[in-house]
Amino acid sequence: MLRGVLERLDAPVPRLDEDALGALLHDVFGVDGPLERLAGERDLNHAVGGRFVLKVQNATDGEDVIEMSSLAIAELARRDPGLPVSQVVPARSGALWHPVADATGRTCFARLFTFMDGHHPAADELDEPALHDWGATVARVGRGLRGFFHPAARYEIAWDVARASDQRAGVGVVPGSGRDVVATALDRFAAHVAPGLGGLRAQVVHNDMGRANVLVDEHGAVSGIIDFGDMTHTALVCDLAVAVADVLNGRDDALDAVPAMVAGFRSVTPLEPDEAAVLGDLIAARLAITAVIMSRHVRADGVDVLDDVDGAVRMLHAIDAVGWDRFTAQLAAHARGETAQWAPRRDAELLRARASTLGPQTLTYDEPLHVVRGEGAYLIGADGRRYLDAYNNVPVVGHCHPEVVRATAAQLATLNTNTRYLHEGSVALAERLIASAPAGLDRVLFVNSGSEANDLALRIARHATGRRGVLVTRFAYHGITEATFALSPESWQHATPPPDVALLEPPGDRPAALPQPGHPDVAAACRGMELAATVVDGSFISDGMLGPAHAWVRRTADATRAHGGLYVADEVQAGFGRTGDALWSVAAAGVTPDVITLGKPMGNGFPVAAVITRSDLADPFIAATDYFSTFGGNTVAAAAGLAVLRVIDEEDLVERARQRGAQLRARLEALPGVGDVRSWGLMAGVDVGPERADAVVNALRERGVLIGRTGPDGGTLKLRPPLIVTADEIDLLAGELANVLAA
Ligand code: PMP
Repeated sequence: MLRGVLERLDAPVPRLDEDALGALLHDVFGVDGPLERLAGERDLNHAVGGRFVLKVQNATDGEDVIEMSSLAIAELARRDPGLPVSQVVPARSGALWHPVADATGRTCFARLFTFMDGHHPAADELDEPALHDWGATVARVGRGLRGFFHPAARYEIAWDVARASDQRAGVGVVPGSGRDVVATALDRFAAHVAPGLGGLRAQVVHNDMGRANVLVDEHGAVSGIIDFGDMTHTALVCDLAVAVADVLNGRDDALDAVPAMVAGFRSVTPLEPDEAAVLGDLIAARLAITAVIMSRHVRADGVDVLDDVDGAVRMLHAIDAVGWDRFTAQLAAHARGETAQWAPRRDAELLRARASTLGPQTLTYDEPLHVVRGEGAYLIGADGRRYLDAYNNVPVVGHCHPEVVRATAAQLATLNTNTRYLHEGSVALAERLIASAPAGLDRVLFVNSGSEANDLALRIARHATGRRGVLVTRFAYHGITEATFALSPESWQHATPPPDVALLEPPGDRPAALPQPGHPDVAAACRGMELAATVVDGSFISDGMLGPAHAWVRRTADATRAHGGLYVADEVQAGFGRTGDALWSVAAAGVTPDVITLGKPMGNGFPVAAVITRSDLADPFIAATDYFSTFGGNTVAAAAGLAVLRVIDEEDLVERARQRGAQLRARLEALPGVGDVRSWGLMAGVDVGPERADAVVNALRERGVLIGRTGPDGGTLKLRPPLIVTADEIDLLAGELANVLAA
């Protein structure tokens, strides 16, 4: 099979002298004019007086292949008349091609095409807009051929990227140092691309929109598409890979020029995630095919295609220098519409730029982590290293969960607008939240962050009670707005509480390493204060991950109401199943709060947050304040929120949090030489003291595991892996922690 493919490829160009060609033109096509030889790897091509191009096809091209391209060209003209495609000019008989015997007696088929103005661009001639235009043109040709079929499209073509593996055995013909990168590209193709290629969008494609087959005008805009000789039925994304590889082959800035072409393609035809994922390896595979086939040509015919080989090999070396995984991952991100950066700024330079733009905002870890991608329980660094993320409670269903990404991207591409319109999304999400909340909570107000949710909860409480006083736990954190900063002693840097705020001692009997301990209970705390609300994070994360405290929560909620206030359960940390008991931590305590606030994990990273409360509290507030949030609960936010809840349901993540949480707990309790271990589902705290905590967190980062620290003295290790974390990953986390503690 492979032999047949190569025979067709290596068949010599037809031989006819100018007299024979002139007679053919005159007799068959009724055309006369001076002939000028044009380039052609397989066919004999001549310009005819600036009006036509006479093409004598390679003898190995059967009539069916010629019929296919003739019909495809006509189809394209119908479907996208604006595309500058060279048209087939019929013979006098009306036939679209005509048989002719060449000097060696082989039967070839001759066709006449309209002449297209323009020139073949040099490698470095195309600027960014021109590359964008080229990519868009490739996509338009693909669109124009959508649904087109012809039996000849089944023929195998060695240049089809999908057949890259056929070239693996021939890598030895590539000169010198190119051999290794070519082999790497083909091996990666076999490992990462070939297995899934059959499942990608496929159709008949042009398959050869490189610089040899496309003309441009003086501005670099595509002015002519002139050869349909490599058409085949294959994955659509191959068409883009071919164009990128062939257009950029030979440029010094080849990799930097890739995004413009991909963006152009995407502006016409968005890439599907699976296509985006393989694009980088497909481009590399096309370069490898070029290197192998062209090297063989050099050996066989001594023809001058060494530049193509050299350009392909240089581009593969450039990919190798960036790192194959980083290049393909970054290109995939770009192909999905994100910013691509395969040459990330070096960390030191980026640090300086960050400080001079974002100011002295804290970065986690002594050696800041430069991340470029997230996947499941892992963050991927700019250096390509994978870090187990047991720090972050936002990606509750795992980084970039495909279902959340799909649902959010699809909605973003459909409609993104606010809640002042009737739309299924926000209503469905509100219904879903109300159904999940304790009975009696029947209203949902959407916002964008946990801070906003708590701020709004406070406004509702103050509106409903006509009072101002608020109780929070001793070292709580509830947000960044003016009002929620006032509820966040963790952020006060030990200043005294602002007006209307008093501190409540959290559960447990841990000594208060703080200048001002909280009051022992609600009654004591609201002495001299008219209580509007008590706001409590039921997992007491910033107070030191105190774990479940059901009796304390019940007692505090009851006492709050007895003092005329509302109980606000801040579920920004503990919500969405992290406790392994239920979606909301208050459910386990058997408390029905007056208000629940949600945030961080709600959109798995997409900004969406909410207040769940009762109609008797919300409705008067909404009426009195014309409550509305532009972005809150918009169509995309709602899609994200619904997807997260769906995934939690479908993947049984509350139960998994319980099981993995128990596993983690057992492993942590077995650690020698640590203090108290507290946990609730997949949130765990381990007391090791402030200095040791700092060292442990940084040492774990060096070992590829990310955790944080918390508590009034910062002496508690904070572990919060995503709920999709596996048993092996828990073992990895606990094992590395044990190693670090032992060191
Ligand atoms: N409440 C709690 C318990 C939190 O942990 C946080 C964030 N760490 C917030 C509220 C504020 O959420 P956001 O950062 O989304 O404003």
